[in-house]
Amino acid sequence: MSNLFLTIDLEEYFHSQFIRPYVKEKEARAYKYVELLLKKLNQYKAKSTFFVVSEWAEKNESLLKQISYEGHEIASHTHTHPSLSLIKNDMVFYELEKSKDILSTIINKNIKGFRSPNFDMPKKLFSYLQQLNYVYDSSLCKSKIHMLSNNLIEENKNIKELALESIIPPGGGFLRFIPIKLFEKLVFKKGQNCIVYIHPWELDDYSKIKNSVPTLKYFLHSYNINTVEKKLDYILNKFSSRNLQDLLEKK
Ligand SMILES: [Zn+2]
Repeated sequence: MSNLFLTIDLEEYFHSQFIRPYVKEKEARAYKYVELLLKKLNQYKAKSTFFVVSEWAEKNESLLKQISYEGHEIASHTHTHPSLSLIKNDMVFYELEKSKDILSTIINKNIKGFRSPNFDMPKKLFSYLQQLNYVYDSSLCKSKIHMLSNNLIEENKNIKELALESIIPPGGGFLRFIPIKLFEKLVFKKGQNCIVYIHPWELDDYSKIKNSVPTLKYFLHSYNINTVEKKLDYILNKFSSRNLQDLLEKK
């Protein structure tokens, strides 16, 4: 049996890299799917790490507190979800610092973990994480068919890397695109720690945006979105999920 660490990148659909430039009217929708996820995690007695975009948290303080109260870990997914290699270094630092401040203030707990948007890790990332007293990073996607660029990395022994590691990126589009049995075969290895990721918007069949987004981008954002809930049930039924803090303590 594999050890599952289900992680949730908590952002709105309009933070998604595929559709972000095209969304004019931003409707808050993630909270509905966060509530659904909490119900599901509770049902399967699963614990998860939520990597949270803190501009979302500012608008959803009580829901963030509830996530933490129910025993899930809160970690940072930046403040506004930019691609970090496309912004200046001082803005990278700001995104890391601001989100840690906001999240820790709301839940009154230290924030240990960080995950970069879009697997995008600029060279300074680890030194900034260390300066800001983060304990671990989970941005690195070590997969044979990981197609996005990655500038990394200055090794930094003070920041532990909990990489997303499998033949395919273990979640997101790949969870949506391929049948669950194949996903299971490619991602879950016996006796190993398997970190899987999903987004709340992957449970949201939101076709209102379809006409304003180019066809390919809309396809990448939404293909097979109506299969995710069932796939998640399959995974949570088969493996028992813990949060990354738990993995850290045992590493
Ligand atoms: Zn993200």
